[in-house]
Amino acid sequence: MDKKTGPTENSPCSADWRELMYVITRGIGHQHSGRTCGQDTVFSDEDWTGFVMESRLDCIVVGAGIQGSAAAYYLAANGLQTLLIEQFPLPHSRGSSHGPSRITRKAYADFDQLTYMMNDAYKLWTELENNSGVTLFKQAGMLTVGKSQNPSIEGSVRYMKKYEMPYEVLAKEDNRKRYPMLNFPPNFTFMIDKDAGVLHADKALLAFQTLFKKHGGEIKDGEKVETVSPGDICSIQTSKGEYRCRHLVLTTGPWSKPFMSTLHVTLPLRVIKVIVLYWPEKNKGEYSLKRFPTFYHENAIGSFSVFGTGSYEYEGMVKLCLHEGPEVDPDTRDFSDQSLVINLMSSYVAEHFPGLIPRPSIVESCMYTISPDRLCVLDRHPLWRNIIIGAGFSGHGFKLSPVIGKMISEMVMNKPVSHSLEPFRVNRFQKSSRL
Ligand SMILES: Cc1cc2nc3c(=O)[nH]c(=O)nc-3n(C[C@H](O)[C@H](O)[C@H](O)COP(=O)(O)OP(=O)(O)OC[C@H]3O[C@@H](n4cnc5c(N)ncnc54)[C@H](O)[C@@H]3O)c2cc1C
Repeated sequence: MDKKTGPTENSPCSADWRELMYVITRGIGHQHSGRTCGQDTVFSDEDWTGFVMESRLDCIVVGAGIQGSAAAYYLAANGLQTLLIEQFPLPHSRGSSHGPSRITRKAYADFDQLTYMMNDAYKLWTELENNSGVTLFKQAGMLTVGKSQNPSIEGSVRYMKKYEMPYEVLAKEDNRKRYPMLNFPPNFTFMIDKDAGVLHADKALLAFQTLFKKHGGEIKDGEKVETVSPGDICSIQTSKGEYRCRHLVLTTGPWSKPFMSTLHVTLPLRVIKVIVLYWPEKNKGEYSLKRFPTFYHENAIGSFSVFGTGSYEYEGMVKLCLHEGPEVDPDTRDFSDQSLVINLMSSYVAEHFPGLIPRPSIVESCMYTISPDRLCVLDRHPLWRNIIIGAGFSGHGFKLSPVIGKMISEMVMNKPVSHSLEPFRVNRFQKSSRL
């Protein structure tokens, strides 16, 4: 018998072999540490490591959004036998990672560590572009507008100075000269982060998943993980089968709060529906990405901010969205009424973007999963240390995903993690955590 492949069809033990394969594929093979064929012990644990791998994977990642797909990629690229499980058929638009674009930028106004992480992220996005052969980033800059002495602009400028990042604050009289297609009061500050730009979101997601498979990873989509039995070896029950793994990564996006509660972790996450609105240009090309970059206006409508991208992804359409929305159940996301957001945004567009028709032509749905401090949760499960949680990316996690994926892979491999996990610990929500 070949220890790697098991007994052959004609070997004296072929009946046992078929029975064993049946047991393994039902995911309960681990209960048998050895079997006998006549008087001889045929399979010791050691004997079957070669072919039991399928039922004892190194790692399972639950959730094939951008964070799970990035993590799965770095795990497989490091040689770990990894399975990525997604509840919906791929590609899908029911989570948070779909759509043609996301804004990326280096400077975070209020948190040094994210700026360091973004420096890494830029390198890793380039690496992903090179490895996949797909262009994923378009440099366009980001225009932030705000009333004078705006903390967001002042914070960003402070960081960009500190880290010598290219930026420009326009002299007030130049606002209109540079951006004649905008209408803001003369006392507004216009600041441009030159390294910012657009990530091609759908293509980036596909690039991670394609490279993951290229490194030997497997994706099972249309398969919902229903229960997890934690332990040194975790058992995962899905809508279609059962799997076993040494490490488990949970990147379940908007479903994280209910999912983690089944593992006795209460995360104070809020899920909101954010609608992506595309507004037609009156004169085609006036707001093309070349003239009008990505955009952010803090406290644009009361305390709500507005973000967007010049016309790029859909010709003649500018993306402008409210950075807020109604709280929803992710399974019934589209029941919620979106007329209030559309009305607010229509008035905003009419006031500040005179070259756009203030009625959106395209409305797409997405969700943010928001933590109280707007930082993600990236940590080991408090009891089962081989379970890693990545959740609550609070509407700004796409650009960080290669770093998050890399950090998750380092945690699984027990290697030093590239950036501190302290800001992202589960126990920072102690008051609302049962653990
Ligand atoms: C409108 C909008 C604009 C945004 N703009 C930006 C931006 O400009 N810049 C930026 O950096 N970020 C932005 N973000 C945020 C960013 O897109 C998210 O932070 C990121 O996509 C979150 O990824 P995720 O993998 O955590 O979640 P998701 O993409 O939701 O992935 C989670 C996956 O887990 C699956 N899943 C859940 N439960 C199970 C289960 N039981 N079994 C199997 N599978 C399961 C889900 O189906 C889903 O596919 C934006 C988000 C939205 C909605």
